[in-house]
Amino acid sequence: MRELKNIPKQKHIALIAHDNMKVHLLKWVKKNSNILASHFLCGTGTTARMIIEETSLPVRAYESGPYGGDMQIGSNITESKIDFMVFFWDPLTSQPHDPDVKALLRISVLYDIPIAMNISTADFLLKSTFMDNEYIRYDDM
Ligand code: PGA
Repeated sequence: MRELKNIPKQKHIALIAHDNMKVHLLKWVKKNSNILASHFLCGTGTTARMIIEETSLPVRAYESGPYGGDMQIGSNITESKIDFMVFFWDPLTSQPHDPDVKALLRISVLYDIPIAMNISTADFLLKSTFMDNEYIRYDDM
């Protein structure tokens, strides 16, 4: 396997939610804004703008998901510029950019970044002790 960088203490977190899931992501972000404020946040266009409008958190906005935002985030993962992702995709609605979604999930697994795809996983990840420390990858993988 290729050599992957350790995940720094201060993480670059990507936040993405499909339309039907945005309300859940926003609620989760508001509930955890104290923790999220100590990291760098980014997201796909509409998700990022919603968080900016509804909270005081700074969020770097990429293109909207269907217009290439997922691919931009995937590209940043390959350059170690994003190292953690919360992606609430919609399990009940098909998406026009489904190939991009699949590509993003594939790249996230390949680059071994933590990914939360539902609320409980997002809660578990955010409460992990690795959130307050650098995550040192195993060197024998
Ligand atoms: P959006 O994109 O935040 O621009 O709605 C999300 C997505 O569909 O991936």
